[in-house]
Amino acid sequence: MEVIHHFDSGVTQPYELGDGEVTFDLRPGQRILNVVVRDALPQLRVHLMADDKGEVFLTKQGLLYATDGRAFRVAPFERTGEERLSTDIDTRGGRVHIATRYPYGRDALDRLIVQCANEPQVSVRLLEESGRTVPVFDLIPRGTRGLDHYIIAGEDVWETAGCWTADWMVRLLLTDPELAARVLNSGAIHIVPLASPYSATLPSASYTTPEGKGIYGAATWGDEEPPPEYALLRDEVEACIKAGALGLMLTMHSWQGSRAFSEMGTIRESGENRLDDSRAAWAESTMEGLTRDVPLGRFRMSEKIWHPGLARDRLLGVHDAVTFRIEITTVGQGTSELEATARGLLEGLGAVESWEKVLPCQSNAG
Ligand SMILES: [Zn+2]
Repeated sequence: MEVIHHFDSGVTQPYELGDGEVTFDLRPGQRILNVVVRDALPQLRVHLMADDKGEVFLTKQGLLYATDGRAFRVAPFERTGEERLSTDIDTRGGRVHIATRYPYGRDALDRLIVQCANEPQVSVRLLEESGRTVPVFDLIPRGTRGLDHYIIAGEDVWETAGCWTADWMVRLLLTDPELAARVLNSGAIHIVPLASPYSATLPSASYTTPEGKGIYGAATWGDEEPPPEYALLRDEVEACIKAGALGLMLTMHSWQGSRAFSEMGTIRESGENRLDDSRAAWAESTMEGLTRDVPLGRFRMSEKIWHPGLARDRLLGVHDAVTFRIEITTVGQGTSELEATARGLLEGLGAVESWEKVLPCQSNAG
């Protein structure tokens, strides 16, 4: 057996190989692991050394593993000693990818871009600024263009369940023409699987600026000059609002294993703007519809934003636009559940009857 990590977003920790087992030391804290074990035995026992903080995270989520590089499953841990968690995985003999956070990086984006290359329904657009790039997957209906729906994942580099869900959305829209027709009925859809400049599982901050500073990037929508990726996305969404063409604007995050449900949310009030009863009721029923078929899905309307500068705070406060966020759970969720999450959100989007309350009536053309 051999442990390798020299691939995009690969990260290892001190380890020891034994007879049919491998032990990684993730102490202190919630240190990240994203490696491939080569020439693994068919049954591999994986031990992780974790302190209290790491144990809480790992126990809730389990170990992620994939034998084909893509379909991750979850193996639950048992505590087998002081600061030690263990699990057995079926590697089928050969290569097994193991990780403590869903790997989703520029490598995964490359794969999606290549798979879209010969698909006429989708085009991939590259937003560029200051050496940073943001691929956007556009699916645009023939004939009347209608509204524009934006789905943005990977604002926070670790929160890869959102990236996987966005990736699945693109694939589902390509492989299920009936679903695509329902979704594109109301307008174009623009999907950003990875807004962050770096691959997931980087052990640093949620977003790294061009100056190398780790910041909470998702909260820069409200800045005078946001960092490149946020500036590019904000310009586009705000132009769409000014044209009265915004439908769904959804950012997809993941609180990982910290809660055992996926929750969509929006806010009622920001700055001078407050949703009246009819817009608030529309927002709630829209969230209900969007999350109905999402595994472990629920929704919540909050009075105000929990952290200033997030997209829905900025877009309501400055433009009086209702936008949404979902936190996707990773508790017991492998990639097939994330596929179901993507499908549920798309089915919900296709079923929304009207988007006219996204913007106050006087400025809405949709
Ligand atoms: Zn987040």
